Amino acid sequence: MKVPKSHPRRKSLEEHERIARYFRNGIVAPAGMMAHGRGEAFDYLIGERTTEEAKRQAMAAAALLLTAKRPVICVNGNTTALCAKEIAELSRAIPASVEVNLFYRTKKRLGLIEAEFRKLGIRVLGTKKTARVPGLVSKRQFVDPDGVFAADAALVMLEDGDRTEFLRKMGKKVIAIDLNPLSRTARNADIAIVDNVTRAVPLLAKFVRKLRKKKRKTLMNIVKKFDNIKSLEESESRIRGGAGRWKRG
Ligand code: ATP
Repeated sequence: MKVPKSHPRRKSLEEHERIARYFRNGIVAPAGMMAHGRGEAFDYLIGERTTEEAKRQAMAAAALLLTAKRPVICVNGNTTALCAKEIAELSRAIPASVEVNLFYRTKKRLGLIEAEFRKLGIRVLGTKKTARVPGLVSKRQFVDPDGVFAADAALVMLEDGDRTEFLRKMGKKVIAIDLNPLSRTARNADIAIVDNVTRAVPLLAKFVRKLRKKKRKTLMNIVKKFDNIKSLEESESRIRGGAGRWKRG
C-alpha cells in the first residue's frame, strides 16, 4: 500500500507496512507484530516524535556507550526490519559489535537476519549457542562469548524485562530503547530511551559523533548525573499529561 505523502501519520503507517512485509519474509515473528502494535500505541501517545526527555536520555546513553570498553548492540526481527541500516551506522560510529538475540529463535530467522546485516557490511554475532545468560530460561539466554557475554555494555531494543535484569546481574550496563516507560525493560535498565527505535537509533549516532571528542571524565559525569527512574517518570508524566499538552502533526 502506498501511503500518500500528505498523510499526517505517514511515517507510522510506513513502519506498520514494513513490519508486515518483514513478517511475510520470515524476519519478524508473529509476536513481533503484537509488540510493534504496543509500541505504536505508546508512540501515538507521545506524538510520534522525539520528546525533550528522550533527547536527554539519548545523550546520557551515547556517553555511556562511549565509555564502554566492549559495547554490543542487540538486534531482533523487528529492529532488523525497521532500522538495520541505522543500526549498522551506529555500530560503526561507537564502534560496537552487533549481536542477534531472539525469543523465537530458529535457524531460518537467524540466517535471514544475518544476511540482512551482511548486505550492510556487518558480521552479526550470536548465531551459535555457545554461551548463556545465567538464570534466563527462554531462548534469549543464548549469547555470543565474544559479544554480549564479554561485553560491559549492551544496547537492547524491544527487549524483555527478564533479560535486562539478568544482564545487569552479570555486571553489564544496559541501555534500553523502549516506547513504554512502564515496561520492566525500561525500569530495569541503567538508561532507558523512551522513543521509537527508528528515531532513537539515528539520534544516538548523532550524539555519539557529538560527544566522541569529549574527555572520559566528562562522559562519565553525564552518565553519573542521569537518574533512570526520575527520567522515566518525566516520560510517563508527558503521556499522562493529556492531549492538550502538545501539538500533533
Ligand atoms: P517487559 O518485559 O519489558 O515489561 P513486554 O513484555 O511488553 O515488556 P515485549 O512484548 O517484548 O515486552 O514488548 C516490546 C516492547 O517494545 C514494548 O514495551 C513496546 O512498547 C516496545 N516497542 C515496540 N515497538 C517499538 C519501537 N518501534 N520502538 C521502541 N519500542 C518499541
